[in-house]
Amino acid sequence: MICLLLMIFSNLFPTGWTGFNERGFIAVKPDGVQRRLVGEIIQRFEKKGFQLVGMKLVQASEDLLREHYRDLRDKPFFKGLVRYMSSGPIVAMVWQGLDVVKMSRRVLGETNPANSLPGTIRGDYCVEVGRNVIHGSDSVESAQREISLWFRPDELECWEDSSAQWIYE
Ligand code: ADP
Repeated sequence: MICLLLMIFSNLFPTGWTGFNERGFIAVKPDGVQRRLVGEIIQRFEKKGFQLVGMKLVQASEDLLREHYRDLRDKPFFKGLVRYMSSGPIVAMVWQGLDVVKMSRRVLGETNPANSLPGTIRGDYCVEVGRNVIHGSDSVESAQREISLWFRPDELECWEDSSAQWIYE
């Protein structure tokens, strides 16, 4: 019940998604799906202690991808990026937890795998920036925008996390 009220409140006032309720958008890109990395990536977020609240396999349209990456539309690689991201299905996910957006970026590594440390997803599983297997929102504001772009509110599940007392003090 508390969960449901929180969800209604947070959809009305997006700043409600803060603290333990912060939400981040993560997507396994087409190369990550083709290379069978979905299970490994989900496991890393689960083991970290974050809570999965939304997930689906999508063949994204070019329109959706152009909107998703609208801030990069003037970059020379934009066209290739949209082509790459629409080349196969993507696993789109929403993860919840304290500082999930900032911590997810650390789990992912740097944009360019060459600069990503071993132990990060991009540091462990890819080589080139144009095939970097995973997307993660770069700020809480972009997470809110991306979640509403990729998910309808009824596709997000609000569930009681029975392990929360072992993750948070
Ligand atoms: P991030 O995904 O780490 O937030 P950006 O938002 O800067 O990084 O870029 C979005 C995506 O565009 C990257 O993840 C990568 O797939 C692609 N990209 C970024 N820079 C380049 C580049 N120089 N050449 C090709 N693709 C790039």
